[in-house]
Amino acid sequence: AMHYPEWIWHNGAIKRWAEATTHVMAHVVHYGSSVFEGIRSYQTPNGPVIFRLTDHNKRLFASAKIYDMAIPYSLEQINAACREVLKANENTTDYLRPVAYRGLGGFGLSADTPVEVAVATWKMGQYLGASVVDEGIDACVSSWQRFAPNTIPAGAKAGGNYLSGQLVAREARRLGFGEGIALASTGLLSEGAGENLFLVFDGVLHTSPVSAALLNGLTRNTIITLARANGIEVVERDLPREYLYLCDELFMCGTAAEITPIRSVDGRQVGTGKPGSVTRRIQDLFFGLFDGRTPDKHGWLEPL
Ligand code: PMP
Repeated sequence: AMHYPEWIWHNGAIKRWAEATTHVMAHVVHYGSSVFEGIRSYQTPNGPVIFRLTDHNKRLFASAKIYDMAIPYSLEQINAACREVLKANENTTDYLRPVAYRGLGGFGLSADTPVEVAVATWKMGQYLGASVVDEGIDACVSSWQRFAPNTIPAGAKAGGNYLSGQLVAREARRLGFGEGIALASTGLLSEGAGENLFLVFDGVLHTSPVSAALLNGLTRNTIITLARANGIEVVERDLPREYLYLCDELFMCGTAAEITPIRSVDGRQVGTGKPGSVTRRIQDLFFGLFDGRTPDKHGWLEPL
């Protein structure tokens, strides 16, 4: 059975996990009306940090703005709640989940229900499974495409978006793959079920531009920033599906997945079938932030 942490932050207070409940008729249960974040904490030589805490919670407010959802707390209060819940659980967890959602208070789609907020934390470990960060995963292109522009905004990290993510991830697992990659409504690459994508051609990183077709990932942004600062060229461009088969290296990235190499797509081996040198270098730079090898030039490591 699942083992849950003892404490959770809910509507302004730290509570026991079992006491952080909401009504079955809450708007969110029926209509997917939540916005959320996924944030990692790391133990560094200089103490515990929350990675890009403020940037994540800014995105939470941006997602809420898209849905005209008034979060009844400030950015500073949500940041503080993240720290508080980690500390309440004695810093034994590594992942934070702020979520704001429409609660009980009307059954209509446009009902202005109260907005509730929770911040949970738990131990995530390696999201896509043990050793995948070293060995890579086998991925497939999903038969499900992402939402088209001006339908469900992919740039909001909203609960309802993850109906698409569930179709992509569950189909991939059912077929025996480690993760699914979705195409945009244009047929061009968009993103993984919960990760952005990078392809390597001749030592250069290629990634799809931030557009209506994908979430503006903070790990993606971190990688672009670290790569450029370390002499690795990055090109943001539209990418067709078949480039997944032709690139020298391929990896996915996200808060949960961190930097996970992909060793095959749709049964075609990527490059040598092993994580390549650019992928390794990016992993080194990224994980180096947390063991002190990569200087934190942007204040990304926010102290607990
Ligand atoms: N795309 C989707 C659909 C995601 O759910 C995530 C995870 N939040 C990402 C990309 C990666 O975003 P980030 O690096 O900010 O975690």
